[in-house]
Amino acid sequence: MTFKTIIEPFRIKSVEPIHMSTAETRVQNIQNAHFNPFLLHSRQVIIDFLTDSGTSAMSSEQWAGILRGDESYAGAESWERLEAEIKDLTHCPFILPTHQGRAAERILYGHLGGPGKVFISNTHFDTTRANIEFSGAEALDIPCEESLDHNSDYPFKGNMDIRQLDRLITDRGAANIGAVILTVTNNTGGGQPVSMANAKAVAEVCHRHKVLFILDCCRIAENSYFIKHKEEGYQSTSYRDIAREMFDLADGCIMSAKKDALVNIGGFLALKDESLAAACTNLLIITEGYTTYGGLAGRDMEAIAIGLREVFEDDYLNYRIKSTAYLGEHIRQKGIPVLYPIGGHAVYVDAGKLYPHIPAEEYPGQALVCELYKIGGIRAVEIGSVMFGKYDDEGNLIPAPMELVRLAIPRRVYTQSHIDYVLEVFDEILKNKDKVRGLRITKEPKFLRHFTAHFEEIPQEK
Ligand SMILES: *Cc1c(COP(=O)(O)O)cnc(C)c1O
Repeated sequence: MTFKTIIEPFRIKSVEPIHMSTAETRVQNIQNAHFNPFLLHSRQVIIDFLTDSGTSAMSSEQWAGILRGDESYAGAESWERLEAEIKDLTHCPFILPTHQGRAAERILYGHLGGPGKVFISNTHFDTTRANIEFSGAEALDIPCEESLDHNSDYPFKGNMDIRQLDRLITDRGAANIGAVILTVTNNTGGGQPVSMANAKAVAEVCHRHKVLFILDCCRIAENSYFIKHKEEGYQSTSYRDIAREMFDLADGCIMSAKKDALVNIGGFLALKDESLAAACTNLLIITEGYTTYGGLAGRDMEAIAIGLREVFEDDYLNYRIKSTAYLGEHIRQKGIPVLYPIGGHAVYVDAGKLYPHIPAEEYPGQALVCELYKIGGIRAVEIGSVMFGKYDDEGNLIPAPMELVRLAIPRRVYTQSHIDYVLEVFDEILKNKDKVRGLRITKEPKFLRHFTAHFEEIPQEK
């Protein structure tokens, strides 16, 4: 017998209150936050879909690990446990612990980058691109062609375009390629999975040209779920073994443990090449910490080691992927345009399509995140021209390819009734959609402007 309702495969042992609020208060709050939800106080938020990063609920086992943490400066037991766990999973002999993913990115891409260097990815995540560009190098995205059709059922829209990869490496010269980075799942590309066949093809091209192949593996467990259920030949392979097979293809990986390691902080860099690892270790000691803790406390390392096991459990992954799909499929049925199929960690709403009357220069995605907050106290993030737009020499906006809003689902945090509430909020979003106005930026920093930019609503024309 199978049941329609997928229950959360955990009981709640410790709770955290949500502070309810009125629509009037929220209108005031978002104004005070300059229409940028990153500037809201968390207690002003009812359902927080800002990110799935570092927002996981830890298990009782992980909390037990926190108490067990060995805080010795060098050679701590917690480090040995974490190192063994990552080696077992990635088969990489050199493990560098960092305080989060971007620290590993800064170390590796700072070392490999610099003016004249090119990095190629299915899609660079924002911090990845920022670290590469900050070094003076160039970051090129080559998602597969299938990713452009947002309604087809194609299961692996996170794939990289292999023909373009081969051509780009040939054109730019293999010696100028800093690395090829395969992001699994492809966060910025709609949280879409990457197939094993595609990872194998990327590896083949990289090995043929002798170019470094790095996995950005933040969500490799979620990616493994899609491979097991949608790619021929993996039905009887465990999620962990699927991940291992993918790690074996690459020269190393960068992980933000704040995603699929089910913890609140942490990351690592894992490498196969000894001299590259030695160069990175020098940078690690200068800016993160000693080699056996990097940027982490012993207790954090303990929790990561346990989380990396739990995340591959069948019941967990089944609940995780199906509950994300539950939200996505339901709002799609209501008529909200979403990227399809639904990815692993988030639902991406196409705000450009939802608000066709708002041009890219007036940031339809930012308008939707403000609406979600005002109507339901839901916090989400714009992934469109606020995050990825650039200016030309005359100061005109070069828009991002899509105006998306990401509803990222924290792991093991919200229950189905929270999600049912969100579905009701979307009914109101639909009712209001023709009245929503665009925004303009009043203040912005040079890098990663979406975090701190200020906006104002564009007044309605008389
Ligand atoms: C979150 C993330 C990063 C950066 O990791 P942080 O821990 O936030 O620094 C890099 N790549 C991808 C794909 C991510 O999702």
